[in-house]
Amino acid sequence: MATRRDGAPLSLWHDQGPAPKQREPLVGGDEADVVIVGGGYTGLWTAYYLLEADADLRVVVIEAEFCGYGASGRNGGWASARFPGNRSAMADAHGMAAVVEYQRHMFDAVDEIGRIADKEGIDCDFRKGGVLLYATTPAHVPRLHGYMQDLWHWGCEAGDLEWLDISEARRRAAVAGTRGAMFNRHCASINPWRLVAGLAEAVERRGAVIYEKSRARVIRPNMVVTDDGVVRAKTVLRCTEAFTAELPGHSRTVAPVYSLMLATEPLPPEWWGTVGLHNGETFSDERHLIIYGQRTADGRFAFGGRGAPYHFGSTVRDDWDVDPRTHELVRRVLWSLFPQLSEARVTHRWGGAVAVPRDWRTSVDFDPGTGLGHAGGYVGQGVASANLAGRTLADLVLGERSPRTRLPYVGHRWRKWEPEPLRWLGINLGRTLAPLADAIERRSRRPSRLVGGALNKLTGG
Ligand SMILES: Cc1cc2nc3c(=O)[nH]c(=O)nc-3n(C[C@H](O)[C@H](O)[C@H](O)COP(=O)(O)OP(=O)(O)OC[C@H]3O[C@@H](n4cnc5c(N)ncnc54)[C@H](O)[C@@H]3O)c2cc1C
Repeated sequence: MATRRDGAPLSLWHDQGPAPKQREPLVGGDEADVVIVGGGYTGLWTAYYLLEADADLRVVVIEAEFCGYGASGRNGGWASARFPGNRSAMADAHGMAAVVEYQRHMFDAVDEIGRIADKEGIDCDFRKGGVLLYATTPAHVPRLHGYMQDLWHWGCEAGDLEWLDISEARRRAAVAGTRGAMFNRHCASINPWRLVAGLAEAVERRGAVIYEKSRARVIRPNMVVTDDGVVRAKTVLRCTEAFTAELPGHSRTVAPVYSLMLATEPLPPEWWGTVGLHNGETFSDERHLIIYGQRTADGRFAFGGRGAPYHFGSTVRDDWDVDPRTHELVRRVLWSLFPQLSEARVTHRWGGAVAVPRDWRTSVDFDPGTGLGHAGGYVGQGVASANLAGRTLADLVLGERSPRTRLPYVGHRWRKWEPEPLRWLGINLGRTLAPLADAIERRSRRPSRLVGGALNKLTGG
């Protein structure tokens, strides 16, 4: 079983198994057509689609720990069609049709995960139950309606979304104080660890070689160097998401921001009988603090939220996967949504970092001249995004023009984050504004324009 330094499981999902396969590290030299650094969804989906297109390619994956050690093995299990970034800014640069196309591709990415899981026999509890986004204060109602209008504007159609009145919203999930909810059908709940572990095996079956316990120290054209070996390849792809900030020369490329989760003990079927979430729905509400939950296949809540401290210098450490204050905040939010939990036990607490680029936009880039490429910057919305980004990166490497290679994230260049201490101040200010805006809204029963607006500015909204 995969554990943290304190001996606790890396996440609920890792605890439930299977245990990580222990693949050999890279020792000495190897050669490949494509070498991919990072054995999470992005790296593995890229390998998968490369080999699907050309079974003769020699693809090598270099992973510092084990496949699924990062966010891909620990996330909230929302395979959601939501993507980060300000759509208007994207449309200014690429036109509205490109943004609508992006949304359509994200819808498809959710289904594609289910299709491939099925095809490859990956048992990851894929259930396309949609997402329920609740209004739990009066201030949430106009904001949710505004969000719905926005989604209609950017490519959603009849059948994609639905407003649920109070009684229907309560029937789907007995969320305390609900004032209605938006239902979006483009989301599936999954077991994230089983998806990434199964994907690694599928990629191996197609001929890829995966080296684990092999940290890339140098990533440059034609070469990846680890402590004990070198892989030479015409194409070198960086798929390291939040860990990118730790690579030499990348401390300002993305900011690693922690998202923390907990799981309750399994709750009996009679309990769920009155609470709901019967169809694999994921759920959240419209507060500023980002929260996300699902009912797991074995009848627990797996629930998470942001709000954990950003650590000076964009460092990523196992020790920050647990933050007692933030975990208690996350617990209190879940209990406030479902007071029926009453004496239920929390059995797992864990976390991980998501990668936040300065403009909150995903980037997929490949330079045929140098053979270097990367994909990432999903801001915590990477389950379905990584599938689409991996497919796109594979197209770019193969020199194929496809509808994906016209999407607004292709060739997108990130502005660097500010140097410290400005970065630390800005990100931690945003983190404290979210619960403040929520508290103001709960009291005033109206959207908080001042604090909420400032927060939107800080978060690229
Ligand atoms: C707690 C949490 C909850 C989340 N919930 C959701 C959710 O519900 N829905 C959603 O869409 N997204 C969610 N996300 C985000 C999502 O999980 C990620 O965006 C996605 O998994 C990113 O995949 P990746 O392959 O790009 O990165 P990772 O999965 O982080 O993979 C990167 C890999 O690179 C390896 N690596 C790093 N540096 C090196 C190096 N130098 N050499 C070799 N290997 C290296 C790492 O060990 C890691 O395995 C969540 C994230 C977290 C942390």
